[in-house]
Amino acid sequence: MFKVYLLFLLLLTSSFSFSQITYPTDTIVSGQDTIVIFANKTWEFIEKANSKMLFNASIYAHATENYKWTDKWDTVSPYNNGNDLLAMTDTICIPLTDSMHPDFVLPHNGIVTSTYKQRGKRFHYGTDVDVITGDTLKSCFDGVVRYADYSSGGYGNLVIIRHYNGIETYYAHLNKILVKTNQEVNAGDIIGHGGTTGRSTGSHLHFEMRFFGNALDPEKVIDFANKKLISDSLDMHKELFHYKRSYQYRPAANQLATNNGDKSYHRIRSGDSLYALALRNKTTVKTICDLNGISSTKILKIGQRIRIR
Ligand SMILES: [Zn+2]
Repeated sequence: MFKVYLLFLLLLTSSFSFSQITYPTDTIVSGQDTIVIFANKTWEFIEKANSKMLFNASIYAHATENYKWTDKWDTVSPYNNGNDLLAMTDTICIPLTDSMHPDFVLPHNGIVTSTYKQRGKRFHYGTDVDVITGDTLKSCFDGVVRYADYSSGGYGNLVIIRHYNGIETYYAHLNKILVKTNQEVNAGDIIGHGGTTGRSTGSHLHFEMRFFGNALDPEKVIDFANKKLISDSLDMHKELFHYKRSYQYRPAANQLATNNGDKSYHRIRSGDSLYALALRNKTTVKTICDLNGISSTKILKIGQRIRIR
């Protein structure tokens, strides 16, 4: 009864306007549905709300309606590999700060020790900043923590913050995490201590910036030496995601049995899954399934040849 009353109250006081940027404060379970309550007293059913959290409404609409990019409020996995921003056909101007969220703070005042580039067989998706274990690390814009946990994928202790401009920042290899999932943070708030957890040799902050899951070069956004943003806005266009192109033409030899022009194939080995193949080859399970005319639940046979591209 209380739930019904609460829902009624919410209906009375809420509006369906999503033009404001807002953040979640609470969730209510009502029968089959889960409802998210936002700080500005609006509410949404969780499926809708998941994808609209913390985005400039017009950018969000352009991304999801024109480009069909997908996004959800995933507090369990750091990854969103489904969107290919190399396929962008226009430029989206992203205001990095605005009157409601005007601040930028450097995550850590240290020397940049490695940049966003191809590093051996792997692409290095972020900027490394030198830290001494225990140094404090700060959120660089206002936002809400999407992920705060150990990640076995190499990041070690990882904090991901979704910002109101739609960009997510990743802070990896932390010695200690000092924030919780869904916690609201302001630019400059301490989110953890630097360290060397995960795939790391020596204490450093591995810092990434991602938009709809696609990593861009933090040094195209931040002037680390002068501790400031290069500009108040960022022109998001496909050239920022060039690394995906080099991936296409430099497949690791052990991953691809044959490479016929633009088409790439993989010979199934023990332990392979469609999900892992998609992840490794920077593609999606759906793309692989479509290329091979198979369903995502198909059981892969060892030795079978699967087209990746
Ligand atoms: Zn790194």
